[in-house]
Amino acid sequence: MIKEFINYYKPYKKLFFMDLLAALLFAICNLVYPMITRDIMNEVVPNKDLRMLVIFGFTLLFIFIIKAFLNHFMQYWGHVVGVRMQADMRSEVFTHLQKLPNSYFDNHKTGVTMSRIINDLMDISELAHHGPEDLFVSIVMFIGSFIILLNINIPLTIIIFAILPFVIIFAAKQRKRMQNAFMETRVTTGEVNATLENSIAGMKVTKSFCNEEEELNKFNHRNNIFKSARQKAYRVMADYFSGMNLFMDLLELVALVAGGYFTYLGEINLGDFAAYILYVKMFIEPIKKLINFTEQYQNGMTGFERFMEIIEEDVEKEVKNPVELKDIKGNIEINNVSFTYEDKKQVLKNLDLSIEAGKTVALVGPSGGGKTTLCNLIPRFYDFEEGDIRIDGKSVKNVSLKSLRKNIGVVQQDVFLFTGTIKENILCAKPDASDKDVIAAAKKARIHDFIESLPQGYDTYIGERGVKLSGGQKQRISICRVFLKNPPIIILDEATSALDNVTEREIQKSLEELSKDRTNLVVAHRLSTIKNADEIVVLSDSGIVERGTHSELINNGGVYSKLHVS
Ligand code: ADP
Ligand code: MG
Repeated sequence: MIKEFINYYKPYKKLFFMDLLAALLFAICNLVYPMITRDIMNEVVPNKDLRMLVIFGFTLLFIFIIKAFLNHFMQYWGHVVGVRMQADMRSEVFTHLQKLPNSYFDNHKTGVTMSRIINDLMDISELAHHGPEDLFVSIVMFIGSFIILLNINIPLTIIIFAILPFVIIFAAKQRKRMQNAFMETRVTTGEVNATLENSIAGMKVTKSFCNEEEELNKFNHRNNIFKSARQKAYRVMADYFSGMNLFMDLLELVALVAGGYFTYLGEINLGDFAAYILYVKMFIEPIKKLINFTEQYQNGMTGFERFMEIIEEDVEKEVKNPVELKDIKGNIEINNVSFTYEDKKQVLKNLDLSIEAGKTVALVGPSGGGKTTLCNLIPRFYDFEEGDIRIDGKSVKNVSLKSLRKNIGVVQQDVFLFTGTIKENILCAKPDASDKDVIAAAKKARIHDFIESLPQGYDTYIGERGVKLSGGQKQRISICRVFLKNPPIIILDEATSALDNVTEREIQKSLEELSKDRTNLVVAHRLSTIKNADEIVVLSDSGIVERGTHSELINNGGVYSKLHVS
């Protein structure tokens, strides 16, 4: 884990080492003050040497000013390094997220994933620079003050160091508890976010069922779990901090009493005693820093661990040297394909189906029969193990996912529109398209006139997920996207099912235009829309039960003819 973490320092090596250098100089500057105090008490005051006092004064002033600059450098650049690393991690995790298969998003809550990317990485920037900086300063100050303490008086130094093992044992014992507590708060933060995200997205449903109280209870339940986890973490922290601080105070107490006793015995003089107390304080400082470091480390590392869990998720599979799917005619052959969603029951079994380039095949059948699933397998939104799907003779498993998906246009029942303008939403099909192309596509999708009638035309803001548009308008925008993309293969999965009859009939005209000179796989809810298909395939739980043209199937008097009557 630490090795992976260190990798993120690489781009900022120079800055980071400068930060450490500043920390080193800062630590050394700190060691001077007690030394000068000792000299003033032991030499300057007894000798009544005012000149030296002034010199020492100015020396210290100079050192303090340098310290201020060093501090400023560490505060600013240290944090900058941390924030940049954090941003790199976010960008990496987002890139990775884009490569994850759909099944990942089926099985993970959006809110939790968001929390991992935003909240869990928050503490990383603190850890990233304070961690090594504190560790470094502490070690330098620790060793420095130890050597100087030895110079003042050896037995006294040993007395102080005898307490240290107890401190270390105590800290080590608390470490695991802290780690667990921090992990738990992260998990619960993610859950609270997920609940909140879900509740906000479903606010309209909640209102329509007057379910506000239920939702509030659900939210409060999560919120309470979060609260308890936090409280537990604070208890662990309180135990740790109070315990450690007690040890530090004891250390000072021992130093004062033992040092006082040694001075009383005449083993050391007053100046040494003062310097000794100051150095003990100085030597406590790094221990305190190490205490803080433990907290930061646990906090940061639990976040990093959750970040790494996403990074380690398997991405969509692609063969080593994938073929680019280019200039295709659009022949689709589905051979003996079987498919099961993760450890669920089998949805497709030994399915065979072929669609000649330029032809239209319609899929009908009961809900849950696997029509959408089949549509999703062609662009490889889900990976199938058994059988093969070939486009112009090339297996979809051997072609690059990008080139495969570029050649397929999908129109579904639920349209997802991004928060933004109409134009942005159309352009997602082809970001480099010209205005002319966008307008041409909109005309073909028969939505241009509507867009023009809006006060801001193509730059009209359509609200989150397009809430400011009607169902038909949203569907037209999604059709417009496919016109702009202009792929040779079209998949229409119940594209008009959610619409009323009048809108459906209008949109049907656009869809007919879209299907011209392309290979089409159409899943239809209303059979009237597929009468003209070259072949109609009836898919049910038990596989393909019937296939043929509309009139053939009607004449056969099988499942299709019954569907048609009803
Ligand atoms: P259709 O489009 O014919 O109505 P689907 O292909 O959507 O049917 O669904 C076929 C079966 O697969 C259903 O039993 C459904 O519950 C299941 N299913 C669909 N999508 C998923 C998914 N993402 N994860 C797990 N099971 C799914
Ligand atoms: Mg479906």
